[in-house]
Amino acid sequence: MRPPRIGVLALQGDVREHLQALSTVGADPVAVRRRAELDAVDGLILPGGESTTISYLLDESGLADPLRARLADGMPAYGACAGMILLATEILDAGSGPRVAVALGGIDMTVRRNAFGRQVDSFEDYLSVTGLDGPVHAVFIRAPWVERVGPDVTVLARAAGHPVAVRHGAVLATSFHPEVTADRRIHELFVALVTGRA
Ligand code: GLN
Repeated sequence: MRPPRIGVLALQGDVREHLQALSTVGADPVAVRRRAELDAVDGLILPGGESTTISYLLDESGLADPLRARLADGMPAYGACAGMILLATEILDAGSGPRVAVALGGIDMTVRRNAFGRQVDSFEDYLSVTGLDGPVHAVFIRAPWVERVGPDVTVLARAAGHPVAVRHGAVLATSFHPEVTADRRIHELFVALVTGRA
């Protein structure tokens, strides 16, 4: 069986870190900047970065509508931090004017952008994540939290009482950044979702 071809949306943010992480967990990683690259992947990571900037670049590059269509069609996806925001169906504090984060769908949830930021800009925690043995070192950087989940969404982890890791079918999202730690279990979980093993 060929390794799953997993894209990393490569417009802005932690692209290199996710490509590197994917290469260590049995995937065939590919940077996605164009429509043809998006069409060729089995699953896609939307990295952390700045959701307003990534939204602007998605629009500029003509990738926004094709990406929405692939998500609606059931493509497995994983969004970290800014990527979690983009995978929501509704965004609170999305920004204004041209600097607005756009919800692409994928997970039936309402996400509040920069939610933890009002209390503490960045922090780290050890979280218990459903399905993983032992705590996950979770790094939060101007992170969102989830305020509402639909009936088909499973909450996998919470911080300060709020969902920070969720799954809706084969679409996964975390408020935190596993790519900046050495723990590859979240990437392994996503590869398993892409290959249908989870
Ligand atoms: N606050 C950022 C945003 O709105 C997300 C931060 C991150 O991805 N580290 O996109």
